[in-house]
Amino acid sequence: MPKDDDLRIGVFICECGTNIAGSIDVDAVVEVAQKQPNVVFATKNLYTCSEPGQQAIKKAITEHKLNRVVVAACSPRMHEPTFRTCVKEVGMNPYLVDMANIREQCSWVHIGDRKGATEKAIDIMKAYVGRARYLQPQEETRIPVKQAALVIGGGVAGMQSALDMADAGYKVTLVEKEPSLGGLMAQLAKTYPTMDCAI
Ligand code: SF4
Repeated sequence: MPKDDDLRIGVFICECGTNIAGSIDVDAVVEVAQKQPNVVFATKNLYTCSEPGQQAIKKAITEHKLNRVVVAACSPRMHEPTFRTCVKEVGMNPYLVDMANIREQCSWVHIGDRKGATEKAIDIMKAYVGRARYLQPQEETRIPVKQAALVIGGGVAGMQSALDMADAGYKVTLVEKEPSLGGLMAQLAKTYPTMDCAI
């Protein structure tokens, strides 16, 4: 973890054509971003996920020695992998980039309220810049998975799950804290529609 003074955060505000810029004053968000603690570079991009957008991020990382990146754009479900790969290509740990959602959670839901949407986008951006201070590099590892299952609870759901997985070819261990299987079902005297004993 760099000390506070060594943090160099870059902020990239995406216009997404008019998807974001149509509802949010992106220049105002950039202006506030430039004044945030440890932010050494902030800019806007027409389409940050495009090739020119990604090149702009890489260039800024190199030129401004960024060690944290915040992309204020769409949902991380859309492009988090894109930006992780992007920063990795210039040597930054991919977990030092974060995405602030100012599209699905802001511009799209506040169409017609440009002032309110801009204020909210600024708040979201500030929160993610604050969060970027605590991002830590992470290493991905692969571990072998044992093809076996443990089912805890021998009620109807547990027994059926265990049977289904066993039928699919997995070794299954079923554990139950009570002396007999059946769970709540076993306590019923009769069950609909046959009115048979539950056991
Ligand atoms: S990064 Fe997301 S918000 Fe920006 S242009 Fe691409 S899809 Fe649109």
